Amino acid sequence: MWAGGSFSAFAQQAPPAAASIASENSLKPQQLYESLASVQLDTAKVYSVRNLSIRRDGVEIFLENGKLAFLQPVEGQITGAVFSGHGRIFAVPPDPAERASLAQYLKVPLIDVDFAQAYFRFDPLTANRIAEQVTTQKESVTGDADLAAAWSPIISGLNLSSTPRVFESLLSAKPPAHLYAAVNSAQFGGFDVVVDESRAEAVLIGQPRRVNNEDFFNVWTSYKPVNAPVPPDDFAIISDIQDTTIEDDLTLTADAVLKLKCLIGGERVLNLELSRFLKVQSVTDADGNALAFFQNQDIRRQDIARRGNDALYVVLPQQAVAGTQYDLRFKYRGTVIEDDGNGVYFVGARGSWYPHLSGTPQFSSFDLKFRWPKKLRLVATGEEISHGEDGNQLTGEWHSTAPFIFAGFNLGEYAAETVPGKPEIQLFANQQLEQSIANLLQQNTGNRPLVPLPRFLRPLPTPAAVLKDLGKNLLDSVRYYERLNGPFPFPELNVSQIPGTFGQGWPGLLYLTTFVFLPPQAQAEAGLPQISQEEVQRLVPYHEVVHQWWGNVIAPASYRDNWIVEGMADYQSLMYDQEKKRSKPALQSWLLQYRDALTSKEPGTGKSLDSAGPLDFGYRLNSSNTPNAYRIITYEKGAWVIHMLRMMLREPRAKDPDARFEELLKRMLARYREKTFSARDFQTEVERLMTPSMDLENSRSMDWFFDQWVRQTGIPEYSVDFTVRARKSGVLVEGALHQSGVSKVFTERVPIYAVEPQGRRMFLGSAVTTGPATSFRFAMRVRPLKRLIDPEHTILCRTRGFVRTFLQGLD
Ligand SMILES: [Zn+2]
Repeated sequence: MWAGGSFSAFAQQAPPAAASIASENSLKPQQLYESLASVQLDTAKVYSVRNLSIRRDGVEIFLENGKLAFLQPVEGQITGAVFSGHGRIFAVPPDPAERASLAQYLKVPLIDVDFAQAYFRFDPLTANRIAEQVTTQKESVTGDADLAAAWSPIISGLNLSSTPRVFESLLSAKPPAHLYAAVNSAQFGGFDVVVDESRAEAVLIGQPRRVNNEDFFNVWTSYKPVNAPVPPDDFAIISDIQDTTIEDDLTLTADAVLKLKCLIGGERVLNLELSRFLKVQSVTDADGNALAFFQNQDIRRQDIARRGNDALYVVLPQQAVAGTQYDLRFKYRGTVIEDDGNGVYFVGARGSWYPHLSGTPQFSSFDLKFRWPKKLRLVATGEEISHGEDGNQLTGEWHSTAPFIFAGFNLGEYAAETVPGKPEIQLFANQQLEQSIANLLQQNTGNRPLVPLPRFLRPLPTPAAVLKDLGKNLLDSVRYYERLNGPFPFPELNVSQIPGTFGQGWPGLLYLTTFVFLPPQAQAEAGLPQISQEEVQRLVPYHEVVHQWWGNVIAPASYRDNWIVEGMADYQSLMYDQEKKRSKPALQSWLLQYRDALTSKEPGTGKSLDSAGPLDFGYRLNSSNTPNAYRIITYEKGAWVIHMLRMMLREPRAKDPDARFEELLKRMLARYREKTFSARDFQTEVERLMTPSMDLENSRSMDWFFDQWVRQTGIPEYSVDFTVRARKSGVLVEGALHQSGVSKVFTERVPIYAVEPQGRRMFLGSAVTTGPATSFRFAMRVRPLKRLIDPEHTILCRTRGFVRTFLQGLD
């Protein structure tokens, strides 16, 4: 995990809080918002409609026969409608992976669903188009009190989550096309249809589900229609300046200035994110004028699973003008620091403890000022440029040493240790264990005599020694990773302990789980299974170090690209583990464990975990059907994909066999430094370095690889059958390589080896598969004992024993 991977633990939370009250000087936006949120049917205008069609970006909603009623106009504008009767919705995603996703949820690879009710919200242009059809059809206008009564409570609920987008649209100079439909079908229940050209993927169709008290939003499909525009960023961040005070009770009060430059112009509403646990008190412009804002309104329910309900909308006095700078000042207060007992604290808000633009992440400069209780130590991202005291509090200022993608901090009653070097590593560990782990250790010590409590609660009898070792190991891993990725990107590396079982990598700052700081026996007693212990000791700290480059020097542009930084962090930590063990099996045994997890059948479904969805589905992989697929696919299949690329780029006889792979890493990090990148960008860099043997399509394209391994699912299974014929000198081995478990057009270069009678393993050649069976023919000097498929594990696949062996002309 890195700081940007805010695939949120808060995802499944709670109904949104009540609307906040905007400042007094902004009654107009507030009134508009409230009118949009409370609008009901215009009961006098209920239309009987027949064959009315609403089309947007290839999605067609067809109202065959029924009653259509518009919502009351707000400021003269109709913003929605409801329909009861018989309707149908059609959509066909352009991309095979999206069609496969639909097939998983609906059994067919397209949307063609009948419905009986639908609620709509839309932009003014769409409203006009529908109104025109109603008029041209000269349909009867009737009052219908029953219809209005039946819809009233449903409208009230659906208005809440659809109002922010309508509000934004009404205040925009050029509102992007936008249509939202909440559809109720007899076959599938309620589902959502979003067609919104302000989104990178304009079409999103899916369904909220609640399973075992957990809320999911199953994304049936999300895509950019073929001709839809790519929405540009409206604003660039110039800088973030924050002045934060932490009280004794851990309440946080902040005064933050976000400086933005308008790039496009025409919008009045800014979309931001801020933890819902921080209550905004005011937002002002550079001249001190109060701006209207809306916090903790319902956000679109499709977005809750992805980012939690941390939405903050700020309304500018006028539509923004391109080239103009906007300095927004926020004052807010609340509790985002968790107290886990025994002086162990944790900043739970991840990246949202300060207001930032939602959408594509951006690098910017950060100036952080903190005041905090004297008994605590505080560690933050950036260079500490001052520290002091102010009454009964400590103070400090940190300045980003380069543009950062995120800023973070942590605090606690720390023991500290410094390991000199470049970078200097400073470690901060809590002096006591968080209460939950302390309790587990007490319960799980079995028959051993109970150690007196106060001593028992000191799991780090010599914290300095543990910290020093950890620091030395981290510095050693930095040295190793510098060979792969180039110089360490920040002047120092701070390491702080956090409760729980996860870690995060911020610029120059790591959060590492308490378990990293525990001896193995205590890890087991605190409930970590053996495999997790291995991960905690051998991989977790070093995975986070890799994120200093992959995630903090360059960052993924969207949820579809997140697998690259996670797969890279995971894979490089496996490489480092092998380096430390000085044996190849270390890396291979991790990869084989990963393969087994990916190919294991999910209970109840009989399907492999891999089939939950392709790597580039990101957060969507965790659905109500596969609640835990995200982690395994993103990290473990991600690591395999990086491994396969490394193996293909490898030149075994060169002085540095991995020179091309290392070149790929360094080029990516240089080209996208302090920028975001996509999987397509990554593919382009691979194509610049690809070898002739990688060019399976003779097109200098790696589409075959990225399509199969990143944009689609499937893990092949291989077996061979062959005959061996005697020749004048040696033997001729002829046979077929069988491929199953993947599509018929799946292609891969599969290495085949033979074991000679002396036991020596010999590379025969590679077969490029072109379907279920691929023939091969290799000459050998001596009759081989057996054939091996990819014994070096260069491909994510399963292999089966030989199907048949024919021996001809041999004695
Ligand atoms: Zn990670």
